[in-house]
Amino acid sequence: PLTTGIVGLPNVGKSTLFNAITRAGAESANYPFCTIDPNVGVVDVPDERLNQLAAIVNPQRVIPTSFQFTDIAGLVKGASRGEGLGNQFLSHIREVDAIIHVVRCFEDENITHVSGKVDPVSDMETINLELVLADLETVERRLDRLSRQKKSGDAQATKEHGILTRLQSQLAEGLPARGVDLSEEEWAMIRSLNLLTMKKMLYAANVSEEDVAAAEENPFVRQVMEQAEKEGAEVVTISAQLEAEIVELEGEERELFLEELGLASSGLDRLVAAAYRLLGLITYFTAGEKEVRAWTITEGTKAPQAAGVIHSDFERGFIRAEVVSYQDLLDAGSMSQARERGLLRSEGKDYVVRDGDIVHFRFNV
Ligand code: GDP
Repeated sequence: PLTTGIVGLPNVGKSTLFNAITRAGAESANYPFCTIDPNVGVVDVPDERLNQLAAIVNPQRVIPTSFQFTDIAGLVKGASRGEGLGNQFLSHIREVDAIIHVVRCFEDENITHVSGKVDPVSDMETINLELVLADLETVERRLDRLSRQKKSGDAQATKEHGILTRLQSQLAEGLPARGVDLSEEEWAMIRSLNLLTMKKMLYAANVSEEDVAAAEENPFVRQVMEQAEKEGAEVVTISAQLEAEIVELEGEERELFLEELGLASSGLDRLVAAAYRLLGLITYFTAGEKEVRAWTITEGTKAPQAAGVIHSDFERGFIRAEVVSYQDLLDAGSMSQARERGLLRSEGKDYVVRDGDIVHFRFNV
C-alpha cells in the first residue's frame, strides 16, 4: 500500500492521531519519546463507489484499497545531529511515500510544549530544518564520493555532481529539496538518495474539539495556512482527540455525532482524501462475482502497469484490458447491459487508466 509517515514535535498529538487512525490502543503519554518503536497501521480507504458496484455485481466480498501510516516519533530539535532519538527516526522517514506533518494548534496548560509555548510556525520550521539538515548531510556525503569519480573522468558522476551541487545550495539556505526544479532524467539519477525534503508533505493542524467546526477561525490554524501557502503545501485541520472519539462510534451513531458537530465527514476521511490529491493518486476497480475491489495507482499509469499492481504476471503477460467507466456501468445497471450498449471498451497497452474505471485484464500466463 501507499505509505505515509506521521512526524511532528513531541506532544503535538501524533500518537493520538495514529491511534485514532488504527483504532489501536497504544500509549499516548504526556512526555517526549513515549513512542520509541515506529508504529505501523493500515487503514481502508473509504470509497462510496465500492458499495454502488457491489450492489450491481453482488460479489462474495468487497475489498477497499488501503493506506499505511507510520507514527514516527522522536523527531526533535537537533535530531539531524543525533539528538533525541535522532538518526534512527530519520531513516524511518526515508521509507515512506509522503509525510504527514502534525502541528499543534491546541492550547492546554496540562500538556507540556517542548519549547514552552504553542507556536505552530516555529514548530514547522524546527521540524523542517531537521529534515533539511539531514538531507544536506546525505548530499554532502554523496558529493564527496562523486568528486573522486569525477576526477577520473566519469561522465555519469559529473552529471550527478552537478545536480547535487544545486540541491546542496538550496538545502544550505534551509530550504527543502523539492523546491529545486529537476527534469525526469535528473530526478531519476538522485531518486535513490531518498531525500526527506523531496517527499511530498501535508500539514495536519491539530485543533481542540471545540475549535474543529470553525477551525479556520483559530489564529494558530491561520498561521499554519499562511506558512503552508508560502511553501505550496496543503493543510488539513483535524482534532486528533475528537477523531479518537469518533472511531469508537459505529454507523448511524457516528453520522449523528458528526452532524451535531457540524462536520460532513471525519477528519481521517479528509486526511486520506488530501493525501490522495497530494500524491496524484486515483482508484480503479476490478469487479467479479468473487470480489469487487479497489486498487490505487498514480495518475497517468498505463494499463499494463495498472495490472502489475494486482500481480506482476498480469503486467508481464498483458494482452488487453476490457474497460467500462464507472458512470457508464452505473447507468447501464449491469455488466451485460453495458456490454450490449457497447460501453465496454477493449483497450491496449497504451491506454491510460482513469479514475473509476472498472477493468478486466486479459493476459497470457
Ligand atoms: P505525540 O507526542 O505527538 O505523539 O503526542 P500525543 O498524541 O501523545 O499527545 C500528547 C498529549 O496531548 C496527550 O495527553 C493527548 O491526550 C493530548 N492531546 C492530543 N490532541 C489534543 C487536543 O486536540 N487537545 C488537547 N487538549 N489535548 C490533546
